Amino acid sequence: MIIKCNNDYQNQLIHFLNEQNIIFKQCENYFIIDNIDDLTINILKANRQLICFDETKNYPLVQSVNKHDFPLLIFAGPCSIECDENYHEAVKKLVQIDGLTGIRAGAFKPRTSPYSFQGLQTQAMNIIINAKKVTNLPFICEVTSIESLNQCLNYADILQIGTRNMQNFALLEACGKTNKPIILKRGMGATIDEFLSAAEYILKAGNQKVILCERGIRTFENSTRFTLDISAIPIIKQITNLPIIVDPSHASGKRELVESLSLAAIAAGADGLLIECHQNPDFAYSDGRQAIDFNTLKNIINKSRKIAEIIHEDFKN
Ligand code: PEP
Ligand code: MN
Repeated sequence: MIIKCNNDYQNQLIHFLNEQNIIFKQCENYFIIDNIDDLTINILKANRQLICFDETKNYPLVQSVNKHDFPLLIFAGPCSIECDENYHEAVKKLVQIDGLTGIRAGAFKPRTSPYSFQGLQTQAMNIIINAKKVTNLPFICEVTSIESLNQCLNYADILQIGTRNMQNFALLEACGKTNKPIILKRGMGATIDEFLSAAEYILKAGNQKVILCERGIRTFENSTRFTLDISAIPIIKQITNLPIIVDPSHASGKRELVESLSLAAIAAGADGLLIECHQNPDFAYSDGRQAIDFNTLKNIINKSRKIAEIIHEDFKN
């Protein structure tokens, strides 16, 4: 294993390696270690000051992105594009909200039941073209297969890989070959390690613009749709420097919980949020129960910024 370590931390690393009786060679900022057990590797990987390279595969296991060079990442919009009129109305309202980073543009909807609304699919592309006349903000399309990826490439600015496709390795690799930012959602039954390995597929394929998204995991608790794993946020921040955002909408399934979960996520160190909102939540074609209105979204963004200012000294609003 090769570890890249900046000057400030080298004495500490040398001390740690000596303490563990680990033999190493140093070459400028690089430490080359031959015999090392998995536990020690994990301890090293968890240190944000280090970049660990797997010797056999020469790709970075830990990215060195400085997360707080940018303000909070706030992505919002309806669960799905329903028709030109509804989407146009939503986009016009969204662009008036200060602090938005990108707009949801769900065209290919992975639904549990085959009889539920599946999204407008290719028909949604013209609607996105119209929406782009309103704003320069990036539009986020979920891709569910390589075919849908090919169809979205000319319209989407950001690609989303949903919970059900987190381990669709062919799709991860195909997205990794594009140069678009990728929002990768955690599989509802995936461990953090499996989540980060899925991200690694995209990074290894050459695309470094990965944004991780915690969206709730399946537990025995059934008062919410999923259980938001708040501890995943600080854990992931210790292991990787990739930005991590939280989706409180799919995690809770209930609009009255979206604000609390959003603020908890920012307080736990999340870099942003992905929220479902709708001008008429009760009449949304999909996931209306968890959709909030635009005023609530505005309040959540304002409160989130205040929390981010408290917890990140270098936060630039
Ligand atoms: C979505 O964001 O529209 C979605 C389907 O989310 P998830 O993959 O987290 O269920
Ligand atoms: Mn949804």
